[in-house]
Amino acid sequence: MATIIDGKKISQDIKDELKVQVADYKAQGIEVTLAVILVGEDPASCVYVRNKKKACEYVGIRSLSFELPADTTEEQLLSLIDELNQRADVNGILVQLPLPKHLDENKVIQAIDPRKDVDGFHPQSVGALSIGLPGFVSCTPAGIIQLLKRSHIAMEGKHCVVVGRSNIVGKPMALLMLRENATVTVTHSKTVDLPAVTSKADILIVAVGKKQFITADYVKEGAVVIDVGMHRDADNHLCGDVDYEDVFPKCQAITPVPGGVGPMTIAMLMHNCVASVELQK
Ligand code: NAP
Repeated sequence: MATIIDGKKISQDIKDELKVQVADYKAQGIEVTLAVILVGEDPASCVYVRNKKKACEYVGIRSLSFELPADTTEEQLLSLIDELNQRADVNGILVQLPLPKHLDENKVIQAIDPRKDVDGFHPQSVGALSIGLPGFVSCTPAGIIQLLKRSHIAMEGKHCVVVGRSNIVGKPMALLMLRENATVTVTHSKTVDLPAVTSKADILIVAVGKKQFITADYVKEGAVVIDVGMHRDADNHLCGDVDYEDVFPKCQAITPVPGGVGPMTIAMLMHNCVASVELQK
């Protein structure tokens, strides 16, 4: 019988721990502050931003909201980031992605001071992760490490297969698993015979962006399966990149969708905001 990894509970534990830390900082006169920039009115982005602000409120982090019109120029956005970089009372800066097409995401990410890069997307943060220096780690993969650690699932010496090599999930995930001494294989759309590779995994992490793509044939008996995907099924219910019903009987442990990886991303954003205070000292 597979263990269901409870991301809702683990993320709540993390937020409760952070709440105590934030209150400690407050007692020292430090108000942890996150600046959130939203350009345009993409409905999904609006929901993400609202949830991030709600989490800030819960943990006690002050959030500053910058909601800019969709036709904001690159110059205007970069100038706001520059202003927030300079402000001593702002610890973290988050630009909600995706940006409207006329704005260069790479340029915008690179404009954020790496000491305030709480999303962990800046090339300096990614470089630091790859050579084992301190820095911010992308929230979703960092959340997956917490899910595994707090569920007492050993990573050292295990064969971890990551499906997907995106900059925000797959690649940092592989680096983090390497840091945990797993043996790591990264797969992508050009991988030949994917099921043959994934069915060797002790820990299978799926960030492929395709609804219920991973079925039982892709999974080794007794594997741990982490599902990063987020989709709506035919009945408009949330589902993942993994066909949960099909895979469940084969697993040692599995994350559900919803209630698995999803809640961890925001919890780790809160973690990065709190960590930014020390990094900036
Ligand atoms: P992405 O940028 O679209 O990357 C998808 C990756 O999957 C790419 O590396 C692609 O390979 C690979 N791929 C596509 N088709 C494949 C196939 N047939 N076989 C093997 N690999 C294949 O996606 P992402 O941003 O990493 O996100 C992945 C999923 O996680 C999405 O469902 C997204 O909504 C979800 N997500 C959830 C959270 C959360 O908080 N829960 C956060 C981020 C993302 P190539 O590189 O060769 O194209």
